[in-house]
Amino acid sequence: MLRLPDFNYIRPRSLKEAVRALADLGPEAMAVAGGTDVYPKMKRGQFTPRHLVSLRFLSELRGIRPGTRDGMWIGAGETLTAVSRDAGVNKLFPALAHAAGSVSTPQLRNAGTIGGNVFVDTRCNYYDQTFFWRQAAGFCIKKDGDICLVAPKSKLCLAVFSSDTAPVLCSLGAVANFFGPDGLRRVPFDECYREDGIHFLTKRRDEVLKGILIPRAAFGRRNVYLKLRRRGSFDFPILGVAASLALDRDGICHSARIVLTGVGSAPKLVSEAAPLLEGRKVSGQEIDAAGEAAAKVSHPVDNADLDYWYRKRMTNVYTRKALSLLAGLESEPEKLPEPPA
Ligand SMILES: Cc1cc2nc3c(=O)[nH]c(=O)nc-3n(C[C@H](O)[C@H](O)[C@H](O)COP(=O)(O)OP(=O)(O)OC[C@H]3O[C@@H](n4cnc5c(N)ncnc54)[C@H](O)[C@@H]3O)c2cc1C
Ligand code: SF4
Repeated sequence: MLRLPDFNYIRPRSLKEAVRALADLGPEAMAVAGGTDVYPKMKRGQFTPRHLVSLRFLSELRGIRPGTRDGMWIGAGETLTAVSRDAGVNKLFPALAHAAGSVSTPQLRNAGTIGGNVFVDTRCNYYDQTFFWRQAAGFCIKKDGDICLVAPKSKLCLAVFSSDTAPVLCSLGAVANFFGPDGLRRVPFDECYREDGIHFLTKRRDEVLKGILIPRAAFGRRNVYLKLRRRGSFDFPILGVAASLALDRDGICHSARIVLTGVGSAPKLVSEAAPLLEGRKVSGQEIDAAGEAAAKVSHPVDNADLDYWYRKRMTNVYTRKALSLLAGLESEPEKLPEPPA
């Protein structure tokens, strides 16, 4: 059995106190919310913080408010279960409700928060192993080593960004509200990530996500999230496609955003898709072209479940399916090719 190492557990009484603790304690401190990513990684020696600053009991991080003046507010400390079941989220943003409800298992969704989900660590078959496995196989640059075991010539870690909710938030133009030592900072989710498997977040380590704002401009958009994984539960996405379209009454598309997860070290916006869809009625030809554009920018590598060529090919299939659903050309989201055994 793997055991948790010793650590100091700090339970701040306010967000301000939490941020001060993170700033004062420096790089040896880490925030923890539901702990469903942090604790298993501490057991495996992937995370080695001396101090954990708990966000779990902070009331400032709670609440889902559908109709604020600026849009829908979702507190970072809300659990994935709460987000997936919220009536307002289901009505306006079924993609987000589905993404939150597709994370792992019911037990983990009851503990895991949406704030922890958008910052979940990147993944790799050579890194998501016990300390003993990694010691035997050789450590890599993401933790304790000096070489990438997937691509030895790469100076950059290629671990895979695997959050289910982050691509949906990017596709809806949502904004992250951070609280840090310098006060509140608002950053579009698009700008919260970078293509680097180790330093994949742009936020400062002492900044805490207070909540997420989905702007009013996103309220009328049709949205969908489709997830590829081997098993129907438990598994991380090895490909996720989040799509949102603003369509007028005649079915003409005014704005399109497709964002991929599981195929790089950050959520991937398919920027080439917008000009193929906008100003047109979304039908077969446009959908096929957007599917190809998505597959072109999808660059999975050989460090997650199923072959990378298969995941690249599925990017096209899942993107076409997502757009067909949004355009009302299909109505059964579950009928997708089964992954090979
Ligand atoms: C078996 C298993 C299966 C899983 N399957 C999936 C899956 O299918 N899809 C998926 O997306 N995830 C999956 N996960 C990962 C994880 O359970 C979820 O991502 C969960 O939402 C993490 O939330 P948490 O509150 O537990 O985060 P924590 O573990 O507490 O924290 C995760 C990270 O976020 C940071 N953090 C947390 N809250 C904040 C905040 N408010 N501000 C700033 N930083 C913060 C922490 O410092 C840490 O770096 C799985 C995990 C396991 C163990
Ligand atoms: S991609 Fe390379 S450096 Fe990154 S975790 Fe995997 S083996 Fe390690």
